[in-house]
Amino acid sequence: MTAPTFPMHVSVAQARELFATLLPAPPVVTLPLREALGCTLGADLTALVSHPSATESALDGIACREADTLTASAGAPVALRVVGESRAGEPFAGEVGPGECVRIYTGAPLPPGTDSICPVEQLREEEGTSAGERGSVELLRPARPGDVRPEGGDFHAGETVMSAGLRLTPARLALAAALGHAQVPVRRWRVALLSTGDEVVAPGQPLAPGQVYDSNRVGLAALLTEAGCEVLDLGHAPDSPTALRERLSAAGGADLLLTSGGVSMGRYDFMRDLLLGEGEITFWKVKMRPGGPALCGRWGGLPVFGLPGNPVSSLVVFQVIVRPVLTGEPLPTRQVTAATPFASLADKTAFWRGVLAGDEVREYPRQGSGVLRSLSDADALVVVPEGQDIAAGERVEVMLL
Ligand code: AMP
Ligand code: MG
Repeated sequence: MTAPTFPMHVSVAQARELFATLLPAPPVVTLPLREALGCTLGADLTALVSHPSATESALDGIACREADTLTASAGAPVALRVVGESRAGEPFAGEVGPGECVRIYTGAPLPPGTDSICPVEQLREEEGTSAGERGSVELLRPARPGDVRPEGGDFHAGETVMSAGLRLTPARLALAAALGHAQVPVRRWRVALLSTGDEVVAPGQPLAPGQVYDSNRVGLAALLTEAGCEVLDLGHAPDSPTALRERLSAAGGADLLLTSGGVSMGRYDFMRDLLLGEGEITFWKVKMRPGGPALCGRWGGLPVFGLPGNPVSSLVVFQVIVRPVLTGEPLPTRQVTAATPFASLADKTAFWRGVLAGDEVREYPRQGSGVLRSLSDADALVVVPEGQDIAAGERVEVMLL
């Protein structure tokens, strides 16, 4: 047998780098805010309005002139004449003069002539008047300028508030809406997803002995969505080169083919041969566990990432190699204390499933790459470098899931 002409047994870092070189720049598309969660902002976002749009009250109470109220106390209240009301969305129309005030509510514009707020808790209503009517109120303490929110205190119209490249979290989507944008430009890959295996059956169907439900496609589609990608679901292909070719050919418009299964040495593992014969292999096998046999290359003019079929391997390789390349952000990491020992492997980085409790991590008891519950129950991947056993009590890096 001749030696392979592609890199084999690459490190996790090399795998990320090599995969990244295959991907084109993600196309910029415009999406409604509700569809943009997890996507990367494709251009700077400028505020179309100021927020607040006018100086407004932070409290329910009265708006008045601070100078009128400086001597107010519970023992010697100051009386002000109520000349109207300012509501959120319905400002007071007139001007407020000395000795006067208006009732005001949270978010309502501060009327001209006023500069301060006295909260409702510090007011005493005139005998026979109910809140909401005119008449007069007594202040039990001075009004405070600090209880107003200045115009543009959050951002000013025209200000560039969000930079291209930011990942759109829920808070950033809310901010984009507050800036006045109904839709945003995002960089978004379209990823075609295929699972393979004669034994793989869609959940909801009856299961014959030896068959397994297609958990990978469900988990991977969710991870892709979370990573801000559009998923083109190619379904499932049985183990035959013809079937693989046929399904993968349906990936029109995709930027990446992501497959699960069929990348090992077995007689029915055809993904590697497909790339070898009709495309190219960028690398095969990564020095990691779970997930060793991962495959990367090109086919039909498109980059291909072939994830292993084992459910834990498939999802972990996605999290450790594919996701950081797609999002530009690795999983967040933390240093914690090992509450149990974590064994190393001679020539592979181990990503053991761990359960966090405060500043400690313990090993999930069953680490098989088919034990999907280990991923579901774990909150972290414990990163054990090759050849460096971690004893209980030592510090160790974890990737937060
Ligand atoms: P393979 O990498 O194709 O040799 O598959 C390795 C193991 O993963 C086998 O036990 C398969 O039954 C299982 N497997 C493959 N694909 C899937 C899938 N989509 N969902 C769940 N398990 C799978
Ligand atoms: Mg298979």
